[in-house]
Amino acid sequence: MRSQDLSAALLELQQQHRFRQRHIVETPQSCAMIIEGKRYIAFASNDYLGLANHPQLIEAAREAMLRWGVGGGASHLVAGHFAIHQEAEEALAAFCGREAALLFSSGYAANQAVITSLVGRGDAVFADKLNHASLNDACLLSRATFRRFRHNDLQQLEQLLASTPARTRLIAVDAVYSMDGDEAPLKKLQDLADKYDAWLYIDDAHGFGVLGDGRGSAVEQGLHGERLIYMATLGKAAGVAGAFVAASSQLIAWLVNTARSYIFTTAQPPALAAAVLASLRLMADEPWRRHRLQQSVSRLREGLSEVNFPLMASRTPIQPIIIGRNEQALLLAAQLKERGFWVPAIRPPTVPEGTARLRLTLSAAHTQDQLEALLDCMVQAMQP
Ligand SMILES: *Cc1c(COP(=O)(O)O)cnc(C)c1O
Repeated sequence: MRSQDLSAALLELQQQHRFRQRHIVETPQSCAMIIEGKRYIAFASNDYLGLANHPQLIEAAREAMLRWGVGGGASHLVAGHFAIHQEAEEALAAFCGREAALLFSSGYAANQAVITSLVGRGDAVFADKLNHASLNDACLLSRATFRRFRHNDLQQLEQLLASTPARTRLIAVDAVYSMDGDEAPLKKLQDLADKYDAWLYIDDAHGFGVLGDGRGSAVEQGLHGERLIYMATLGKAAGVAGAFVAASSQLIAWLVNTARSYIFTTAQPPALAAAVLASLRLMADEPWRRHRLQQSVSRLREGLSEVNFPLMASRTPIQPIIIGRNEQALLLAAQLKERGFWVPAIRPPTVPEGTARLRLTLSAAHTQDQLEALLDCMVQAMQP
């Protein structure tokens, strides 16, 4: 892109209803937010358990800041690996039933770390078509042969695995698909990984904290083994920031030694590791959050199906409504916004062309009244 072409390119984005803008949020993350001066009931965040603004997380971070300061100051391998990071890693590994865990500053960095340090030129990576963009970027960066199979199509995946000449193979999937809310068939994927001697890498950004008593999709489905690598982010249900990879001790040692997005970046602020520990305690001690979330998912689906909104096959807090055309999705989101509901319209390239949607997300913090109000409003918005 040359500088003299920018204005025409931006105009084109606008004409395609693809131009994106940020909106200034004036309150903490919650279900009732003030955005650009107006109060909304929000169905838009990935703070599924309502922990992002929880007093215990705030207190843990505050105390840790007094103890450890603010900045990490250096990378983990130089002088930035604090005792509190270590403690959080051990707690995360134990929580997920794995030998070891490694903290990252973001899920984006964690995906890059795992994939680029395990596969390279001459190897092969097999990825679901609907995988998160950060996984796709990591696959491209790895320079391995990058084969994408149709969403959840295990037959196609098996054909690809059976015919690959690559010695090192890696299957990468989202456990819960971020824009659809449906799930990968993890058990069957593990069988294929075992049969074809491939790594199975699971990105559980949206399952951790929510599924398997909070311990995530892999625990829920009883997956284990040396070939299984589990990743989850800590900025969603955990309510903090960053991510972790949980796997065998050997695999973690390999990442520490070879993953460029781990080695060449500053350690996450230590106070965040303390907040992660507080979050893990709440996930374990307060199962009511997940129960309430599940009730809201059921109620929302029931209410929307009564008025014939097309629902996706999702039992997770991600409940998208496919609209189709970009401007249609934007219009519906604008109508909801007008009535005080913050619901994002998701458009290409985040989702495939022609599948623009409203992406409703639920939180344990939503009240029954908030949910009923949204349902009433959705019904009204559909009236001609
Ligand atoms: C959000 C997300 C990521 C990125 O995690 P960040 O910590 O936000 O960088 C990776 N994978 C999936 C599936 C996600 O939804």
